[in-house]
Amino acid sequence: MPRDYYAVLGVPRSAGEADLKKAYRQLAMQYHPDRNPGDKGAEGRFKEVNEAYAVLSDPEKRAQYDRFGTVGPGGGFTDAGFGTLFEDLFENFFSGGGPGRRSRAARGEDLQYELKIPLEEAATGLETKIQIPRLERCERCGGTGAEPGSRPVTCEMCRGRGEVRLSQGFLTVARTCPKCQGEGQLNRNPCAACQGEGRQRAERLLGVKIPAGIDDGMQLRLGGEGSSGLNGGPPGDLYVLVRILEHDIFARQGADLYCDLPVSFAQLALGAELEVPALDGTVRFKVPAGSQPHQVLRLRGRGMPRLRERGHGDLCYRLILEVPQKLNVKQREALAAFDAASKGERGPLTTAFFERMKKLFG
Ligand SMILES: [Zn+2]
Ligand SMILES: [Zn+2]
Repeated sequence: MPRDYYAVLGVPRSAGEADLKKAYRQLAMQYHPDRNPGDKGAEGRFKEVNEAYAVLSDPEKRAQYDRFGTVGPGGGFTDAGFGTLFEDLFENFFSGGGPGRRSRAARGEDLQYELKIPLEEAATGLETKIQIPRLERCERCGGTGAEPGSRPVTCEMCRGRGEVRLSQGFLTVARTCPKCQGEGQLNRNPCAACQGEGRQRAERLLGVKIPAGIDDGMQLRLGGEGSSGLNGGPPGDLYVLVRILEHDIFARQGADLYCDLPVSFAQLALGAELEVPALDGTVRFKVPAGSQPHQVLRLRGRGMPRLRERGHGDLCYRLILEVPQKLNVKQREALAAFDAASKGERGPLTTAFFERMKKLFG
Protein backbone atom coordinates (compact mmCIF):
# COMPACT_ATOMS: atom_id res chain seq x y z
CA MET A 1 0.00 0.00 0.00
CA PRO A 2 1.28 3.48 -0.79
CA ARG A 3 1.73 5.76 2.18
CA ASP A 4 -1.06 8.14 3.14
CA TYR A 5 0.33 11.39 1.78
CA TYR A 6 -1.99 13.47 3.91
CA ALA A 7 -0.75 11.76 7.05
CA VAL A 8 2.87 12.23 5.93
CA LEU A 9 2.29 15.99 5.75
CA GLY A 10 0.00 15.97 8.80
CA VAL A 11 -2.80 17.80 7.03
CA PRO A 12 -6.52 16.99 6.63
CA ARG A 13 -7.77 15.72 3.27
CA SER A 14 -9.48 19.04 2.74
CA ALA A 15 -6.24 21.00 3.12
CA GLY A 16 -5.89 23.87 0.67
CA GLU A 17 -2.78 24.73 -1.29
CA ALA A 18 -1.53 27.22 1.30
CA ASP A 19 -1.86 24.69 4.15
CA LEU A 20 -0.03 22.05 2.14
CA LYS A 21 2.76 24.41 1.32
CA LYS A 22 3.08 25.52 4.92
CA ALA A 23 3.14 21.96 6.26
CA TYR A 24 5.62 20.94 3.59
CA ARG A 25 7.99 23.81 4.28
CA GLN A 26 7.97 23.13 7.98
CA LEU A 27 8.66 19.41 7.61
CA ALA A 28 11.18 19.79 4.83
CA MET A 29 13.09 22.32 6.92
CA GLN A 30 12.99 19.98 9.89
CA TYR A 31 14.26 16.92 8.01
CA HIS A 32 16.53 18.64 5.51
CA PRO A 33 19.81 16.67 5.14
CA ASP A 34 21.85 19.83 5.73
CA ARG A 35 20.37 20.02 9.19
CA ASN A 36 20.57 16.29 9.95
CA PRO A 37 23.94 15.19 8.57
CA GLY A 38 24.30 11.40 8.53
CA ASP A 39 20.80 10.79 9.93
CA LYS A 40 19.24 8.09 7.70
CA GLY A 41 15.86 8.36 9.40
CA ALA A 42 15.64 12.07 8.71
CA GLU A 43 16.72 11.48 5.11
CA GLY A 44 13.92 8.95 4.64
CA ARG A 45 11.36 11.30 6.14
CA PHE A 46 12.65 14.10 3.93
CA LYS A 47 12.11 11.98 0.81
CA GLU A 48 8.66 10.94 1.99
CA VAL A 49 7.64 14.52 2.66
CA ASN A 50 8.84 15.59 -0.77
CA GLU A 51 7.05 12.76 -2.48
CA ALA A 52 3.79 13.56 -0.67
CA TYR A 53 4.04 17.21 -1.56
CA ALA A 54 4.96 16.54 -5.19
CA VAL A 55 1.70 14.61 -5.56
CA LEU A 56 -0.65 16.68 -3.42
CA SER A 57 0.53 20.04 -4.79
CA ASP A 58 -0.35 18.98 -8.32
CA PRO A 59 -4.13 19.19 -8.68
CA GLU A 60 -4.23 16.46 -11.32
CA LYS A 61 -2.07 14.04 -9.38
CA ARG A 62 -3.93 14.88 -6.19
CA ALA A 63 -7.30 14.14 -7.77
CA GLN A 64 -5.94 10.86 -9.08
CA TYR A 65 -4.50 10.00 -5.69
CA ASP A 66 -7.75 10.90 -3.91
CA ARG A 67 -9.65 8.66 -6.26
CA PHE A 68 -7.39 5.69 -6.58
CA GLY A 69 -5.13 5.98 -3.54
CA THR A 70 -2.14 5.91 -5.83
CA VAL A 71 -0.62 7.86 -8.66
CA GLY A 72 -0.48 5.83 -11.82
CA PRO A 73 2.40 5.24 -14.22
CA GLY A 74 3.89 8.45 -15.51
CA GLY A 75 2.01 10.41 -12.90
CA GLY A 76 4.32 9.61 -10.05
CA PHE A 77 7.03 11.41 -8.29
CA THR A 78 10.29 11.82 -10.15
CA ASP A 79 13.65 13.18 -9.12
CA ALA A 80 13.50 15.78 -11.85
CA GLY A 81 10.16 17.03 -10.60
CA PHE A 82 11.49 17.14 -7.10
CA GLY A 83 14.48 19.20 -8.20
CA THR A 84 12.43 22.07 -9.51
CA LEU A 85 10.01 21.90 -6.66
CA PHE A 86 12.82 22.04 -4.19
CA GLU A 87 14.54 24.98 -5.82
CA ASP A 88 11.29 26.79 -6.12
CA LEU A 89 10.42 26.54 -2.45
CA PHE A 90 13.83 26.66 -0.88
CA GLU A 91 15.49 29.35 -2.87
CA ASN A 92 14.97 31.72 0.01
CA PHE A 93 16.25 29.40 2.66
CA PHE A 94 19.36 27.78 1.33
CA SER A 95 20.66 29.55 -1.71
CA GLY A 96 23.62 31.85 -1.42
CA GLY A 97 22.19 34.58 -3.57
CA GLY A 98 23.69 37.99 -4.15
CA PRO A 99 21.95 41.33 -3.77
CA GLY A 100 18.70 41.64 -5.62
CA ARG A 101 18.85 38.00 -6.56
CA ARG A 102 15.38 37.18 -5.45
CA SER A 103 12.59 38.33 -7.67
CA ARG A 104 9.62 39.61 -5.73
CA ALA A 105 7.24 38.66 -8.47
CA ALA A 106 5.35 35.48 -7.66
CA ARG A 107 2.68 33.51 -9.44
CA GLY A 108 -0.76 33.58 -7.86
CA GLU A 109 -2.13 30.47 -6.15
CA ASP A 110 -3.97 27.79 -8.07
CA LEU A 111 -7.47 27.30 -6.74
CA GLN A 112 -9.77 24.32 -6.77
CA TYR A 113 -13.54 24.37 -6.88
CA GLU A 114 -15.64 21.27 -6.35
CA LEU A 115 -18.68 21.18 -8.60
CA LYS A 116 -21.32 18.53 -7.84
CA ILE A 117 -23.63 17.60 -10.68
CA PRO A 118 -26.28 14.91 -11.20
CA LEU A 119 -25.62 12.06 -13.63
CA GLU A 120 -28.19 13.44 -16.08
CA GLU A 121 -26.16 16.65 -16.45
CA ALA A 122 -22.95 14.70 -16.87
CA ALA A 123 -24.70 12.96 -19.77
CA THR A 124 -25.87 16.12 -21.51
CA GLY A 125 -23.04 18.45 -20.52
CA LEU A 126 -23.89 21.82 -19.05
CA GLU A 127 -22.97 25.45 -18.86
CA THR A 128 -23.18 26.94 -15.44
CA LYS A 129 -21.87 29.74 -13.26
CA ILE A 130 -19.73 29.22 -10.21
CA GLN A 131 -18.81 31.71 -7.53
CA ILE A 132 -15.12 31.71 -6.72
CA PRO A 133 -13.51 33.46 -3.77
CA ARG A 134 -10.01 34.48 -4.75
CA LEU A 135 -7.34 37.12 -4.18
CA GLU A 136 -7.23 39.86 -6.77
CA ARG A 137 -4.89 42.75 -7.29
CA CYS A 138 -5.69 45.63 -4.95
CA GLU A 139 -7.12 48.55 -6.89
CA ARG A 140 -6.07 51.22 -4.42
CA CYS A 141 -2.31 50.52 -4.59
CA GLY A 142 -2.23 48.73 -7.93
CA GLY A 143 -0.74 45.67 -6.25
CA THR A 144 2.33 47.35 -4.73
CA GLY A 145 0.99 47.14 -1.17
CA ALA A 146 2.15 50.71 -0.45
CA GLU A 147 -0.16 53.68 0.08
CA PRO A 148 -0.47 55.68 -3.12
CA GLY A 149 2.30 58.31 -3.09
CA SER A 150 4.64 56.34 -0.81
CA ARG A 151 7.37 53.85 -1.74
CA PRO A 152 8.93 50.92 0.08
CA VAL A 153 12.43 51.54 1.51
CA THR A 154 15.44 49.24 1.49
CA CYS A 155 15.61 46.94 4.54
CA GLU A 156 18.49 47.97 6.79
CA MET A 157 18.92 44.57 8.43
CA CYS A 158 19.81 42.71 5.20
CA ARG A 159 20.62 45.83 3.16
CA GLY A 160 18.16 44.75 0.53
CA ARG A 161 19.58 41.24 0.12
CA GLY A 162 16.53 39.56 1.60
CA GLU A 163 18.66 37.12 3.58
CA VAL A 164 21.02 37.10 6.52
CA ARG A 165 23.82 34.64 7.27
CA LEU A 166 24.00 32.81 10.56
CA SER A 167 26.85 30.66 11.86
CA GLN A 168 25.86 27.38 13.53
CA GLY A 169 29.07 25.62 14.57
CA PHE A 170 31.04 24.96 11.40
CA LEU A 171 28.07 25.69 9.23
CA THR A 172 27.04 29.02 7.85
CA VAL A 173 23.39 29.07 6.93
CA ALA A 174 21.67 31.67 4.86
CA ARG A 175 18.29 32.53 6.27
CA THR A 176 15.46 34.67 5.07
CA CYS A 177 15.79 38.10 6.64
CA PRO A 178 13.36 38.14 9.58
CA LYS A 179 12.78 41.85 9.33
CA CYS A 180 11.61 42.03 5.72
CA GLN A 181 10.70 38.32 5.26
CA GLY A 182 13.05 38.14 2.31
CA GLU A 183 11.53 41.03 0.46
CA GLY A 184 14.65 43.21 0.78
CA GLN A 185 12.34 46.15 1.25
CA LEU A 186 10.17 47.48 4.02
CA ASN A 187 6.74 48.88 3.44
CA ARG A 188 6.45 51.75 5.94
CA ASN A 189 3.09 52.95 4.66
CA PRO A 190 1.02 49.86 3.93
CA CYS A 191 -1.97 50.39 1.70
CA ALA A 192 -5.10 50.96 3.79
CA ALA A 193 -7.27 48.80 1.53
CA CYS A 194 -5.12 45.65 1.45
CA GLN A 195 -2.93 46.15 4.56
CA GLY A 196 0.14 45.97 2.36
CA GLU A 197 -0.67 42.59 0.83
CA GLY A 198 -1.18 44.03 -2.63
CA ARG A 199 -4.21 41.77 -3.04
CA GLN A 200 -7.75 41.72 -1.74
CA ARG A 201 -10.37 39.04 -1.36
CA ALA A 202 -12.96 39.10 -4.10
CA GLU A 203 -15.82 36.88 -5.21
CA ARG A 204 -16.08 36.25 -8.91
CA LEU A 205 -18.86 34.66 -10.88
CA LEU A 206 -17.35 32.56 -13.67
CA GLY A 207 -18.99 30.63 -16.46
CA VAL A 208 -17.86 27.03 -16.92
CA LYS A 209 -18.72 24.60 -19.64
CA ILE A 210 -18.81 20.96 -18.62
CA PRO A 211 -18.49 18.62 -21.61
CA ALA A 212 -20.99 15.78 -22.07
CA GLY A 213 -19.62 12.49 -20.78
CA ILE A 214 -17.47 13.93 -18.01
CA ASP A 215 -16.61 11.40 -15.30
CA ASP A 216 -16.45 11.75 -11.55
CA GLY A 217 -13.12 13.14 -10.33
CA MET A 218 -12.14 14.83 -13.59
CA GLN A 219 -10.85 18.37 -13.46
CA LEU A 220 -11.23 21.27 -15.84
CA ARG A 221 -8.51 23.86 -15.85
CA LEU A 222 -9.42 27.51 -16.29
CA GLY A 223 -6.07 29.11 -17.04
CA GLY A 224 -5.38 32.40 -15.25
CA GLU A 225 -8.58 32.27 -13.17
CA GLY A 226 -6.81 31.50 -9.89
CA SER A 227 -5.59 34.18 -7.51
CA SER A 228 -3.69 37.16 -8.91
CA GLY A 229 0.08 37.10 -8.85
CA LEU A 230 2.20 39.19 -6.50
CA ASN A 231 4.28 42.13 -7.68
CA GLY A 232 3.52 41.62 -11.33
CA GLY A 233 3.64 37.82 -11.26
CA PRO A 234 1.14 35.88 -13.40
CA PRO A 235 -2.16 34.65 -11.93
CA GLY A 236 -2.65 31.03 -10.89
CA ASP A 237 -5.13 28.67 -12.50
CA LEU A 238 -8.54 27.54 -11.35
CA TYR A 239 -9.31 23.83 -11.36
CA VAL A 240 -12.93 22.77 -11.38
CA LEU A 241 -13.15 19.31 -9.85
CA VAL A 242 -16.32 17.60 -11.06
CA ARG A 243 -18.11 15.27 -8.67
CA ILE A 244 -21.06 13.28 -9.95
CA LEU A 245 -23.80 12.63 -7.43
CA GLU A 246 -24.88 9.07 -6.80
CA HIS A 247 -27.91 8.13 -8.88
CA ASP A 248 -30.99 6.38 -7.47
CA ILE A 249 -31.20 3.89 -10.33
CA PHE A 250 -28.04 3.86 -12.42
CA ALA A 251 -24.48 2.97 -11.60
CA ARG A 252 -21.87 4.06 -14.09
CA GLN A 253 -18.98 2.01 -15.44
CA GLY A 254 -17.10 4.08 -17.96
CA ALA A 255 -19.65 4.95 -20.62
CA ASP A 256 -22.02 2.09 -19.64
CA LEU A 257 -24.88 2.50 -17.21
CA TYR A 258 -26.10 -0.40 -15.08
CA CYS A 259 -29.53 -0.89 -13.60
CA ASP A 260 -30.69 -3.77 -11.41
CA LEU A 261 -34.07 -4.76 -12.78
CA PRO A 262 -36.35 -6.92 -10.57
CA VAL A 263 -38.29 -9.53 -12.56
CA SER A 264 -40.46 -12.54 -11.72
CA PHE A 265 -39.79 -16.18 -12.59
CA ALA A 266 -42.72 -16.11 -15.01
CA GLN A 267 -41.33 -13.03 -16.78
CA LEU A 268 -37.96 -14.75 -17.20
CA ALA A 269 -39.49 -18.02 -18.35
CA LEU A 270 -42.21 -16.64 -20.62
CA GLY A 271 -40.47 -13.46 -21.74
CA ALA A 272 -41.96 -10.04 -21.14
CA GLU A 273 -42.13 -6.55 -22.49
CA LEU A 274 -41.43 -4.06 -19.71
CA GLU A 275 -41.31 -0.34 -19.30
CA VAL A 276 -37.86 0.37 -17.90
CA PRO A 277 -36.01 3.52 -16.81
CA ALA A 278 -33.54 5.27 -19.10
CA LEU A 279 -31.61 8.47 -18.39
CA ASP A 280 -34.08 10.61 -20.31
CA GLY A 281 -37.38 8.91 -19.48
CA THR A 282 -38.63 5.35 -19.88
CA VAL A 283 -38.33 2.88 -22.74
CA ARG A 284 -40.12 -0.31 -23.78
CA PHE A 285 -37.77 -3.20 -23.28
CA LYS A 286 -38.07 -6.86 -24.19
CA VAL A 287 -36.91 -9.61 -21.87
CA PRO A 288 -36.61 -12.71 -24.09
CA ALA A 289 -38.25 -15.98 -22.99
CA GLY A 290 -35.77 -18.18 -21.12
CA SER A 291 -33.66 -15.32 -19.73
CA GLN A 292 -31.61 -16.23 -16.66
CA PRO A 293 -31.25 -14.47 -13.31
CA HIS A 294 -28.27 -12.05 -13.25
CA GLN A 295 -28.14 -12.04 -17.02
CA VAL A 296 -27.30 -8.58 -18.36
CA LEU A 297 -29.36 -7.29 -21.27
CA ARG A 298 -28.12 -4.27 -23.14
CA LEU A 299 -29.70 -1.37 -24.94
CA ARG A 300 -26.84 -0.43 -27.25
CA GLY A 301 -25.94 3.24 -27.46
CA ARG A 302 -28.30 4.37 -24.68
CA GLY A 303 -25.62 4.86 -22.01
CA MET A 304 -23.38 7.85 -21.34
CA PRO A 305 -21.80 9.78 -24.21
CA ARG A 306 -18.12 9.03 -24.64
CA LEU A 307 -16.02 12.02 -23.63
CA ARG A 308 -14.38 13.68 -26.64
CA GLU A 309 -15.29 10.69 -28.80
CA ARG A 310 -18.21 9.73 -30.91
CA GLY A 311 -21.02 7.55 -29.69
CA HIS A 312 -22.48 6.38 -26.43
CA GLY A 313 -22.01 3.44 -24.10
CA ASP A 314 -24.80 0.94 -23.38
CA LEU A 315 -27.67 0.90 -20.96
CA CYS A 316 -27.36 -2.45 -19.16
CA TYR A 317 -30.15 -4.16 -17.21
CA ARG A 318 -29.14 -6.87 -14.79
CA LEU A 319 -32.09 -9.21 -14.30
CA ILE A 320 -32.73 -9.75 -10.60
CA LEU A 321 -35.14 -12.60 -9.90
CA GLU A 322 -37.64 -11.84 -7.18
CA VAL A 323 -39.27 -14.91 -5.64
CA PRO A 324 -42.63 -14.25 -3.94
CA GLN A 325 -42.39 -14.55 -0.17
CA LYS A 326 -46.07 -15.41 0.15
CA LEU A 327 -48.33 -17.26 -2.27
CA ASN A 328 -52.10 -17.14 -2.52
CA VAL A 329 -54.06 -20.31 -3.11
CA LYS A 330 -54.25 -19.91 -6.88
CA GLN A 331 -50.55 -19.20 -7.18
CA ARG A 332 -49.68 -22.20 -5.06
CA GLU A 333 -51.88 -24.49 -7.17
CA ALA A 334 -50.46 -23.09 -10.41
CA LEU A 335 -46.88 -23.55 -9.22
CA ALA A 336 -47.58 -27.06 -7.93
CA ALA A 337 -49.11 -27.89 -11.31
CA PHE A 338 -46.06 -26.41 -13.02
CA ASP A 339 -43.75 -28.49 -10.85
CA ALA A 340 -45.73 -31.66 -11.59
CA ALA A 341 -45.61 -30.90 -15.30
CA SER A 342 -41.82 -30.41 -15.10
CA LYS A 343 -40.97 -33.79 -13.50
CA GLY A 344 -38.00 -35.44 -15.11
CA GLU A 345 -36.95 -32.31 -16.97
CA ARG A 346 -33.58 -30.89 -16.27
CA GLY A 347 -32.05 -27.70 -17.57
CA PRO A 348 -28.40 -27.57 -18.74
CA LEU A 349 -27.14 -26.13 -15.43
CA THR A 350 -28.79 -28.89 -13.38
CA THR A 351 -27.66 -31.62 -15.81
CA ALA A 352 -24.05 -30.43 -15.67
CA PHE A 353 -24.18 -30.17 -11.90
CA PHE A 354 -25.44 -33.74 -11.44
CA GLU A 355 -22.76 -35.04 -13.79
CA ARG A 356 -20.07 -33.35 -11.69
CA MET A 357 -21.61 -34.83 -8.55
CA LYS A 358 -21.65 -38.29 -10.08
CA LYS A 359 -17.93 -37.99 -10.89
CA LEU A 360 -17.18 -36.99 -7.35
CA PHE A 361 -19.28 -39.58 -5.48
CA GLY A 362 -19.74 -42.30 -8.10
ZN1 LIG B 1 -3.56 47.89 -1.65
ZN1 LIG C 1 15.69 42.46 5.22
